Amino acid sequence: MPLDPFAPVPIKLVTEIKMQVNHVVCAFCGCDCDDISVTVKGERITQARNACVLGKAWFLSHGSPSGLPAARIDGQAADFEPGIETAARWLAEARYPLIYGLSSTSCEAQRKAVALAEILGGCIDCCTSVCHGPSGIALQGVGEPTCTLGEVKNRADLVIYWGSNPGESHPRHMARYAVTAKGMFVPQGRSGRTVVLIDVRRTASARAADIFLQIKPGRDFEALWALQALVNGQALDASAIDATGLTLQELSDLSNRMKHCRFGVLFLGQGLTQTRGKHFNTSAAFLLVRALNRHTKFALMPMRGHGNVTGIDNVLAWQTGYPFGVNFSLGYPRFNPGEYTAVDVLSRGEADAALVVASDPVASLPGRAARRLSEIPTIALDTHESETTRVARVAFTTATTGIHAEGTVYRMDNIPIRLRKILPSPYPSDEEVLSRLLTRVRELKAC
Ligand code: SF4
Repeated sequence: MPLDPFAPVPIKLVTEIKMQVNHVVCAFCGCDCDDISVTVKGERITQARNACVLGKAWFLSHGSPSGLPAARIDGQAADFEPGIETAARWLAEARYPLIYGLSSTSCEAQRKAVALAEILGGCIDCCTSVCHGPSGIALQGVGEPTCTLGEVKNRADLVIYWGSNPGESHPRHMARYAVTAKGMFVPQGRSGRTVVLIDVRRTASARAADIFLQIKPGRDFEALWALQALVNGQALDASAIDATGLTLQELSDLSNRMKHCRFGVLFLGQGLTQTRGKHFNTSAAFLLVRALNRHTKFALMPMRGHGNVTGIDNVLAWQTGYPFGVNFSLGYPRFNPGEYTAVDVLSRGEADAALVVASDPVASLPGRAARRLSEIPTIALDTHESETTRVARVAFTTATTGIHAEGTVYRMDNIPIRLRKILPSPYPSDEEVLSRLLTRVRELKAC
């Protein structure tokens, strides 16, 4: 029997259409690898070539329909518009609202969140305050002698990871940018570079290093200060650095290598930023690199975790002058880590409403801060269910930036990268939800 050309195409056939999309960006971690090829079958991503194990898990888990309602109010499925109305009223009526998260969404959405914080007269903070906040403080206090990952790939002959385990946290960092990658002035790749790992324990990344230095926990500041003294040509007593767990010979050898390399780079991890000393550690590292530039070319870069945590620092800095923990209650931006940062505002019970975007603070913040989110009206935007969406009074399901929505992200070296939309989504993007909230809050505040 001849086929009827106007008969509907069986859905099954449509959903099984396979296509390959190249040059896709993985927005899971701060490497933002832009060479991923994904295979799409129907409405699902079934393969992510070139991605590491973390990237593959991100593409496969986010690249399939979640089946969640567009919005939930007090746990009950609701339409989008009632969700916006309820959320906007909670926020507009609050005396001291907090906006938090924003490290896994687009810069376009982040801009809307800053505008919302300003009109609400509340606080806005991002995941930076619990990871690389001390790097942001050092940046503001000392200045950041940095470079791009392209320069690292093409020029670096000395690569130092301090308090970082890139093999597990950023699995392609070494291969794509810093260690085995072949560059214009490092054509030999791995054999053209010396790799040093400094950490409190021998992690998986130590296997890729030429030199592993095991430092005592909480002694990074002393070691960095001693290195700076050696770089500046000062004599040191061996007993003065006993507490670091390193020997004077090890530190002298490292300072010599640092001074005599052609192009060196120091990657800072959370082993420096979230241990004893915090911003004193990062400031010491920034000052060390500044001192090294009297001898050679040396740069420094924080190993940023989330795919666009660098983006929110940039957006906040260009709009308010500060990279995280910003308060608008006097009508202009003020910055005071420890006072206006999310953990503090929540733990002290000050925030009386919260808007959480693309983050799960209930699962990740300390107990008192997390508990406060379940005591106050919390509004959550996320692509999937999380501990935070479960306690939220209003939860919106949003499209995943980089899979279901386009947008801009900043790689860990402050390079902006454009994300494309690969799959259709029934859900709005974070930017669309925040735009609607902003419009409605403006109307309510005008009243
Ligand atoms: S290293 Fe990071 S950005 Fe690159 S594929 Fe893995 S998770 Fe994605």
